[in-house]
Amino acid sequence: AKAAGGSRLRFFEPAIAQKAQARLNLRNKLKRAIARREFVLHFQPIVAMATGAHVHYEALVRWNRPKALVQPAQFIEFAENEGLINHIGRQVFDMAFAQLRDWAGEGVPATMAVNVSRSQFLEEDFVEDLLARATRHGVAPSRMVLEITESLLITDSAAAKVVLARLIASGFRIAVDDFGVGYSSLSVLVEYPVQIVKLDKSLIRPLECDPRARAMVSGFIALFQSLGLEVVAEGVETAVQHEFLAAAGCNLGQGWLYGKPMPATPALAAASAMESR
Ligand code: C2E
Ligand code: CA
Ligand code: CA
Ligand code: CA
Repeated sequence: AKAAGGSRLRFFEPAIAQKAQARLNLRNKLKRAIARREFVLHFQPIVAMATGAHVHYEALVRWNRPKALVQPAQFIEFAENEGLINHIGRQVFDMAFAQLRDWAGEGVPATMAVNVSRSQFLEEDFVEDLLARATRHGVAPSRMVLEITESLLITDSAAAKVVLARLIASGFRIAVDDFGVGYSSLSVLVEYPVQIVKLDKSLIRPLECDPRARAMVSGFIALFQSLGLEVVAEGVETAVQHEFLAAAGCNLGQGWLYGKPMPATPALAAASAMESR
């Protein structure tokens, strides 16, 4: 058995070793990126369905490498698994608060939504740290929406409840992101004092061709509104989707139809052009 195992091991060893090496390489590159603060934020408008006015902006992180702008799908989950997301998250919050302060200085009273990973949310001093950063930048917490996922509220309910209550008491607003992905639980939205729910793009995409998707989405919108929640439809790409959602009473929309994620300053415009290629 040992001989057979040995030969099998020899056969698979190079692939495993390569994977481990690739993991280590990316980990080291990310750690260097954190030390050098190589991350930037792009901003995507969330618009009022009725008027098209920009109600707030979602901050979406990108890794600004010398020759490429790396999308979050390439490194966020990895950073979460490697215990590096909290470092990136703190830089994201500093950039977000700095941008809010700049906009306020330019007379733009914008609010901003920022994505928060599970391990950030459950970090011991998350709320204090966030408040300290807000104060340091002179930004009121009420200007910021924190986007968290349902799964966080389901799997870590006791701890999450305490953190949520403190964030809300501090003036932050909370959005439940990606509703409709995986194991959606309506009870979460009744039980927790969140203010905003975001319908995932996977619910919006089939609206044009699937009457059952239309029935489900208009039902969700009516239900959420009766609970006093603001509803954001994500991934709105077509006028047909927009018309349906607006008629169903959805207040807010986000998607390529209204605007793609964009850098906030002209200095980053070149990188943005690169990203869209
Ligand atoms: P998300 O929070 O669901 O963000 C929305 C994603 O949908 C963004 O992808 C956005 O570019 C994309 N999107 C917007 N409109 C449309 C549309 O009309 N059609 C389609 N097909 N896509 C659209 P992005 O920027 O690649 O971000 C991916 C995910 O990475 C985010 O999903 C979020 O979960 C995570 N993420 C981004 N920034 C951060 C961050 O600062 N911290 C953490 N923890 N996660 C982040
Ligand atoms: Ca989000
Ligand atoms: Ca989302
Ligand atoms: Ca997400």
